[in-house]
Amino acid sequence: MAQPSQNVINDRIYVLRTRWESYLAEGTFEFFIEFAVAVNCLAEHFNRMRLPGLVRICEGLENSALAKLGSPASHPIDAQDTAALQRQLDTLLGAVANSRNTAPERRLEERAPDLGGVDWIKPRLVWLVVAPEMREMAAALRQQIDFYGFQTRELAWSGKLPTGDMPLAVLFIPPPKSTGAGDHARIAEIRARCAASQLIYLGAHPAIETIVALMRSGIDVTIPQEEGSAMVLNCVLDLVQSYEPEKYRVLVVEDSRVAVALIQRTLAEHGIESHAIRDPGTLLGVLEAYRPDLILMDMYMPRFNGVEATRVLRQMSAYTSLPIVYLSGESDVAMQVEALRLGGDQFLMKPFNPVLLAAVVKTKIERFRETQRSTRLDGLTGLLNHTAAKSRLKIMAEKMAPQTGLTVAMIDIDHFKSVNDTYGHPVGDQVIRGLAWLLKGRLRSSDLIGRYGGEEFLIALPDVTPDQAKTVINRIREDFSTLPHAHQRGVLFATFSAGIASYPEYDTAQILTEAADNALLDAKRLGRNRVEKAAGYAQPMSTQAQTTATSSSDSSTAALPMSLARLER
Ligand code: GH3
Ligand code: MG
Ligand code: MG
Ligand code: MG
Repeated sequence: MAQPSQNVINDRIYVLRTRWESYLAEGTFEFFIEFAVAVNCLAEHFNRMRLPGLVRICEGLENSALAKLGSPASHPIDAQDTAALQRQLDTLLGAVANSRNTAPERRLEERAPDLGGVDWIKPRLVWLVVAPEMREMAAALRQQIDFYGFQTRELAWSGKLPTGDMPLAVLFIPPPKSTGAGDHARIAEIRARCAASQLIYLGAHPAIETIVALMRSGIDVTIPQEEGSAMVLNCVLDLVQSYEPEKYRVLVVEDSRVAVALIQRTLAEHGIESHAIRDPGTLLGVLEAYRPDLILMDMYMPRFNGVEATRVLRQMSAYTSLPIVYLSGESDVAMQVEALRLGGDQFLMKPFNPVLLAAVVKTKIERFRETQRSTRLDGLTGLLNHTAAKSRLKIMAEKMAPQTGLTVAMIDIDHFKSVNDTYGHPVGDQVIRGLAWLLKGRLRSSDLIGRYGGEEFLIALPDVTPDQAKTVINRIREDFSTLPHAHQRGVLFATFSAGIASYPEYDTAQILTEAADNALLDAKRLGRNRVEKAAGYAQPMSTQAQTTATSSSDSSTAALPMSLARLER
C-alpha cells in the first residue's frame, strides 16, 4: 500500500536535492532561493509530522541558507560557504535516512488503526535516561507512562545505546540539583542517534544559561523539577496527538493581476491556501465567507487604499486582531510608519522576496492561531473546550458522518462530587486530568475529544461501527477504573459512565449529543461504571422526562458511601 507521508518526504527530498544540484551547476540567485524554499517545505512537513529533531536540522540549514541569500550579485557563493552548506545538507539527508523506518511509519499506523482486536493503543517507545540517584522516581514515572499505552525503556546515565526502533521521546532524569553541565556530551550523542525524537530534560535548573546550553546540545523541552511527572506526561501525550492542522488561509487584496499571480504562486509553493480579490469594496463579504488567517494588502488600489481598508477592519470587533501585512512599492519610510500606525502588522516591499514573504506570512499566522488556540482549549486538560468541541462536532456531523459514519460518546465521571468532598478539589482536578490523558493516549488523532463540562467529556469517533466504538469506550472505561490517582494518604480509583449514539440513527450534532446524553443517564441509572448505547429510543425523550427519570432512580445513590469505599484501595 502507498504510504502517503513517506511519499511526501521522498518527493520533498527529491526536490531539495535537485534544487541544490541545479544551484551547484548554475550558481544563480533564483536557484538558491528555490533551494531555500525546498528546505523550508521539508521543515514544514516534518513539523506537521511532529518530528522535532528533523525540524531542527532543517531549520539550521534554512538559517544558513538565508544568511547567504544576499542579492543576485553575491551568487554563486564562494567554495567555502558551498562546502559548509553541503555538509549541513548531508547531515540532514543522513538523519532522514536514519529515522526512516521508525517515526514516519508509526504515524501511518495511527491513521489506519487495526480495529480487529480493538486494541486501539498507539504503541510508542519512550527512553528514560536516568541518573542512579533517580531510579526510584523514574520507576514511578515509568509506571505512569506505561499506563497510557507507551512502552518505556530505562537506560543508564552513561553507556551503550540500544539498537532497533528509535524512540518517540527520550526523557533525561539527571541527579538532583544538576545544572546539566556534565550532561551535554550524552545529550548530543543521543540527539545524533535519534534525530526524530523529542528530547525532554526533567529537572532543569531554572537559569536561562543552563536552559540555552541544554537546548544547544539537543534538548527540545526542559521541565523544572517541581512540575514533575504531570508535565512530562503532557509533553509525551501531546506528541501522539498529532492532528493534521488546517491549512493556512490568506486573503490577497491586490489590484494588479501580475502581482496576484506571483503572490499566489509563492504561497501555494509553501502549502498556503489563498484567495484573491481585486476590488477592496468586496472585502467585508469575502472575509466573512473565506475566514482568512491573514490579509496581504496592497497599498494602492482603485476606490480605497489599503490603509483605509485596514482602518475599517480595525473598527470591527471580529477583525481587530487579524494579521494584516502590506505589500507595496511604497519606499517612503514615513509613509510606511504611518501605514503601520493605522493598524497594519508589517510592511513588505514589492518586488517581494518569496522566502521572506512566506516566512512573514507563516510566522504571523502561527502567532495568530496560537492566540486563537487559547480561546479554544480547556486550561486544565488541554482538550477542546465546550464551545470548540460543539462546533467541531457540528462540522464532523455535517461533513464527515455521511461518508465515514460517526459515533458520539458522552462520558461523565461517577460520584465525582464525593471525590472532591473527600480528597479536595486539587485531587479532583488530577482525576479529571488523568481521564483526559487516558483519552488522548488511547484515541486517534482524527477523533474529537472535548471537555464538555466539569467532569464530562464529549467524544466523537468517525470511521468505526457503533459496536467498535462501544468496545473502544468500554476498554477505556475498564482501564480508567484501574488508573491510580494519588492523594495525600495513598491512591484512589474512580470510574466513569458513558452513553453513545451513532449516525445515521441520530443525524445531527444536536440530536447525537442529546441521544448520547440520554444513554449516559441510563448508564448512571443502571448502576454506573458502564457504557450504554442509545439504540431503542424511538425519539429522544423530552428534557422533562429525563429529569424525572433520573431523580427518581437516583435514590439508588443511597449506595454512594459504599461505592466511595470502593474508590479507596
Ligand atoms: P454522578 O455519578 O451522578 O455523575 O455524580 P457526580 O457526583 O459526579 O455528579 P455531579 O454532577 O453532582 O457532580 C459533579 C461535580 O463535579 C460537581 C462539581 O463540584 C465538580 N466539578 C465540576 N468541575 C470541576 C473541576 O474542574 N474540578 C473539580 N475538582 N471538580 C469539578
Ligand atoms: Mg495596486
Ligand atoms: Mg456531571
Ligand atoms: Mg459525574
